[in-house]
Amino acid sequence: MSVLDLATATHNEARQGEAIMPLAQDIKQYHKRFYIESYGCAMNFADSEVVASILNENGFGATTDLTEADLILINTCSIRDKAEQTVRKRLTEFKRLKAARKDILVGVLGCMAERLKSKFLEEEQLVDLVVGPDAYRSIPALVTEAESGQKGVDVLLSREETYADIAPVRLGSNGVTAFVSIMRGCNNMCSFCVVPFTRGRERSRDAYSIIAECQDLFGKGYREVTLLGQNVDSYYWTAETGTETVTFAMLLEKVALISPLLRVRFSTSHPKDITDEVLFTIRKYDNICNYIHLPVQSGSTRILQLMNRTYTREWYIAKFNRIREILPDCGLSTDVICGFCTETEEDHQQTLSLMTYCRFNLSYMYFYSERPGTLAERRYTDDVPETVKKRRLAEVVDVQRRFAYEGMLLDVGKTFKVLIEGNSKKSDQDWAGRNDQNKMIVFPKTTVDHKPGDYVWVNISSCTSATLMGELVPGETD
Ligand code: SF4
Repeated sequence: MSVLDLATATHNEARQGEAIMPLAQDIKQYHKRFYIESYGCAMNFADSEVVASILNENGFGATTDLTEADLILINTCSIRDKAEQTVRKRLTEFKRLKAARKDILVGVLGCMAERLKSKFLEEEQLVDLVVGPDAYRSIPALVTEAESGQKGVDVLLSREETYADIAPVRLGSNGVTAFVSIMRGCNNMCSFCVVPFTRGRERSRDAYSIIAECQDLFGKGYREVTLLGQNVDSYYWTAETGTETVTFAMLLEKVALISPLLRVRFSTSHPKDITDEVLFTIRKYDNICNYIHLPVQSGSTRILQLMNRTYTREWYIAKFNRIREILPDCGLSTDVICGFCTETEEDHQQTLSLMTYCRFNLSYMYFYSERPGTLAERRYTDDVPETVKKRRLAEVVDVQRRFAYEGMLLDVGKTFKVLIEGNSKKSDQDWAGRNDQNKMIVFPKTTVDHKPGDYVWVNISSCTSATLMGELVPGETD
């Protein structure tokens, strides 16, 4: 499933269809303004930060005010039909703006742009440029052409492009946590997934450009980085000289060695590629977070084979046990799809029983949405009625909520090291932050002058299925 619909920094709060807006920039130094909305997974948010950097280099400053933008960009998701419907609805809202100001340009980026290509221009008249995930360097030239009335499309996928030399402009950032993309594309061909078609083949980014970006972030006061990729465990970079190769475990270690005060997270892992080497590296460094997002998708081996997930139920459980063996307290989350083609009640019960066995801390749960051009669309019939899909999804959500709550209850009375990210959503009298298991913790501010980016210790006194609540342990900071 897409990277962390996933999940870590501020962007995590963004659910499907909820956009993240840019932080306004000091417009005076730019002669034009752009407005960008990002949808979908963390990879898209990270890409929007690359786009912002490219536009800054070409005289565009970010604005959060749609009405003053010269260029409106929407970075789209195509993982589910609903995500695409959200984009189309948003485009209709831009129509009024464009009717009022003819010179406004509208551009569509991301996976939906890549999937539809020039068809987007036919289907959505107001769109001036369509740019795929590997073609963002061409945006300035396409904008110049569009300003002279020439609509533009660039959806060429690349086997090399990683934007390694572009310093992302942090959008909507809390100044504490940041995404760092380490690779692009995906070589797995899960039958339900559009990503290999919209993001192309896997390629790993230069390890030293990743380390430099993390060092730069640490220098700017960030205290947590999430290393991003559709399948980070297959990260494998070779220096041009051929004299050095860096695996994912080695990259994790190099980033962790920047400073013990820099927390390191990563997402997403494909179960088949996560190695003991990675698990032992997590155990070796306190600042590599004890949390793994390990999508399972289904608990039925028959369905996993139709999904082309390359592992069986038994194999996944063995991997889960191995993680528990090496990292006993590891926070674990997953993705589940209900109602995949030909799924029977028995298959569904297999998913419920696997979730009962694994008791995930968190799950991203969906019902199957057939995607055009995927293996599943070409080979199978989407034959599970939507009412059944929704009923099964509701049962999966119930099971998840129950076990998540039971898991949180076990944390009451414990004390955790928390990285303050900012005010809690509910009250600015409370701080919010996460422990290294990726659990959100909310606690009252005290007279001690803490700030976002500080590590503090919190004793847990109560919980919900999604949040732990507690009190600061006086005098305990890092
Ligand atoms: S093809 Fe599979 S591994 Fe790759 S992004 Fe899609 S779901 Fe994830």
